[in-house]
Amino acid sequence: MSDCLFCRIVERQIPAAIVAEDQELVAFHDINPQAPTHVLIVPKTHIAKTSELTETSAPVVAHAVLMANRLAQQCGVADTGYRLVLNCGPQAGQSVAHLHLHLLGGRSMRWPPG
Ligand code: 5GP
Ligand code: ZN
Repeated sequence: MSDCLFCRIVERQIPAAIVAEDQELVAFHDINPQAPTHVLIVPKTHIAKTSELTETSAPVVAHAVLMANRLAQQCGVADTGYRLVLNCGPQAGQSVAHLHLHLLGGRSMRWPPG
């Protein structure tokens, strides 16, 4: 989708600090990090949000979690702990309509979120 920000990052039409890539996923640093480690993991295929996942497409989320686990190791936050977040829709605060898994770590985080 040419008008989708994260599709454009996947296609290298907009620059981003890419930290990992495989056949299905691209991971890059969040432009406005909310923790010392804040990486976004996105499917290369355009999926707007988690509520649009299907039986066929849903495994990409498990794949993204496994990539997040590896990146957490690489970033040195695997042992101290990290948070994985999928925001879906306006009240959850989703601001980019391309499914993305947040990997957050490197500081203590509260629960529940505000
Ligand atoms: P959401 O609020 O939709 O769950 O998360 C969207 C995230 O994308 C936000 O954390 C925001 O900082 C990040 N973001 C928005 N625009 C850009 C961009 O152009 N580049 C990068 N790397 N991150 C972005
Ligand atoms: Zn997209």
